Amino acid sequence: MATQMDDLVSRAARLLRRARYAVALTGAGISTPSGIPDFRSPGTGLWESVDPMRVASIYAFRHDPQAFYDWIRPLARALVEAEPNPGHRALATLEAQGILKAVITQNIDALHQRAGTNEVLEIHGHMRSATCIDCYRTHSTDDLVASFLSSNSIPRCPECGGVLKPDAVLFGEQLPVAVVNAAMAHIRAADLLLIAGSSLEVVPVCQLPMKVHRRGGRLIVVDLRPTLADEAADVVIHADCAEILPCIASACAR
Ligand code: ZN
Repeated sequence: MATQMDDLVSRAARLLRRARYAVALTGAGISTPSGIPDFRSPGTGLWESVDPMRVASIYAFRHDPQAFYDWIRPLARALVEAEPNPGHRALATLEAQGILKAVITQNIDALHQRAGTNEVLEIHGHMRSATCIDCYRTHSTDDLVASFLSSNSIPRCPECGGVLKPDAVLFGEQLPVAVVNAAMAHIRAADLLLIAGSSLEVVPVCQLPMKVHRRGGRLIVVDLRPTLADEAADVVIHADCAEILPCIASACAR
C-alpha cells in the first residue's frame, strides 16, 4: 500500500516537473485540516441546522441579514483561528520552485496567501473586506471582526449605517469577473492542472479540468473522495491534501 502511494506521488512529481505551466485548483478539502468546516459535505455541523443554499444566498442575506450572520459566525471564528497547513505550504513551495504558476481557489480563507503563495485567484471572493448594501462603500473587515465575533450584532457601514456584506460570493451572486477572467487566462495557458481538495461540484470550477484535458493537458487529483475529474486524470490520489501535497513537493525538489 505504501509503495503504491509512493509510486503515485513520484508519478505526480514527474508530471509536475515536466509541465511548462502548472496551475492548481483548490477547494474546501485543502482547508479542512486547518479546522475550516466544509459546508458542502454532510455531517460537518453547518449543514445540520440550516441549508446553506438558503441562508447563504444573496436573497436570504437581503431578507434576513441577522440569520445570515448568526449562521456564519462560527465559520468566521474558524477562519480567524485557522493556520495554513502543510498542504497550503506545499503549494507555496511548488510556486517558489517555479513549477506552479497560479493557485485558483474556491476558498475564502486566505490560507494560500498566508502560506506564501503569491498568485492566488479567489474566484469565490474573500472576507478581507465587506461592502455596504446601501452606499456600496467597501470597508476592511480587520476592525469589525472582534466585535462581530463577541456579540450578536450585524456589521454596519461606518459611513451610512447600512448592512455590510462580506466580499465573499453568496449563492445567487455573480462571481468576481476580473478574478474569473484572470483564472481563465491561467487555465488557457495550463498544460497541467493539479486539483486539490475540490469536489468540482459547482460551475465554473467543474468545467476547468476538462478545458485543460481536452487540449492534451495533464490532470492530477488529490482528494479524500472521488471527483468528477478522476476518470480523465493521469494521477488520482485519494488521500488528505495536508499529507500528500508535501510529499509531492519534496519529490519535485529531488
Ligand atoms: Zn454605507
